Amino acid sequence: MTVAVPDSPRPRGVLERMPRYRPGLPPAPVPGLAAYKISSNENPYPPLPSVLEVVREHAAGINRYPDMGNTALRDAIVERLRVSADMIAPGTGSVGVLGQIVVAMCDAGDEVVYAWRSFEAYPIVVALAGAEAVAVPLTADHRHDLAAMAAAITDRTRVVLVCTPNNPTGTIVTDAEIRDFLTTVPAHVLVVIDEAYVEFVTEPDAPDSLAILRDHPNVVVLRTFSKAYGLAGLRVGYAVAHPEIAEALRMTATPFGVNVLAQAAAVASLAAYDELDVRVKELVAERGRVEEALADQGWDLPPSQANFVWFPLGEDTPAFAAACEEQALTVRPYAVDGVRATIGEPEASDRLLQIAAAWRAARG
Ligand SMILES: *Cc1c(COP(=O)(O)O)cnc(C)c1O
Repeated sequence: MTVAVPDSPRPRGVLERMPRYRPGLPPAPVPGLAAYKISSNENPYPPLPSVLEVVREHAAGINRYPDMGNTALRDAIVERLRVSADMIAPGTGSVGVLGQIVVAMCDAGDEVVYAWRSFEAYPIVVALAGAEAVAVPLTADHRHDLAAMAAAITDRTRVVLVCTPNNPTGTIVTDAEIRDFLTTVPAHVLVVIDEAYVEFVTEPDAPDSLAILRDHPNVVVLRTFSKAYGLAGLRVGYAVAHPEIAEALRMTATPFGVNVLAQAAAVASLAAYDELDVRVKELVAERGRVEEALADQGWDLPPSQANFVWFPLGEDTPAFAAACEEQALTVRPYAVDGVRATIGEPEASDRLLQIAAAWRAARG
């Protein structure tokens, strides 16, 4: 039997089948209107002066490799979370850490279960690792269907991803729901709780993920400095996991991946958390204002616990996104599912509210 040999180097077939990550684009200019990008869940506040100062200081040392052990960063996280340093695995954004998790846990053909629609990076990370994605539809109220996710676990399942609050729908799983779920998950299946937006959560029945982690050795908590901490441009996040798993994640990290400036800025941000928290509370209040105004307009949106709101517009998704774009407001449309809009500058929210009101007036 002859095997066809390609006449040029070919990337793995999975790359052809894989979805592309579509970054939020900057808005096209519209004369007379300030443009706002509310498509990437970024923090609208500029870096804290104290954090910028630390970044400037460390810029003088970028001829050296960073500390590969992320010692100062892990110590700062230990201080904040009260877990031991051997449970912390930093990486190049929590997407980077998620890639390490799937590579560490999955052989070719192993399965990763996640809800859908959820974070767009999930199918990419899973496919790249050569694993199989098992996407379980959200419930009608845009929440994780944990019963269906439990039922989707097979003897090939190695990892389950739980995104709470869920990107892009903003909904949470409750502490009781995830604890129930964990009683049904086999002990060898790793459950990743992706908490990229945890700082924006105000619901008292949201998961206490670190307590859950203490009770379940098969749980990993993912956190990021990209959203509440406002360091999206520096690429730093981390996992909290039981020591054996955390060690595996440190082994699958890109060597020296978390750069000098990212480590220093993350440490400085943890030190300045009280100041950042004021901004987080402002964004949470702004989310409340936007949700209330949309409810008054007659919209029935899922309650958001993150720094964005979700319009489940179905077939109208592209048209709504285009209406926003015409007003120099870039939101994130998802096929024929819905539109995600970040809570950013109040002026951007005001414009979103005007567009949403006009939309309802025109369509009833
Ligand atoms: C934004 C986001 C992240 C964080 O990504 P980084 O790589 O840390 O910037 C992780 N998970 C979800 C669900 C997100 O929305």
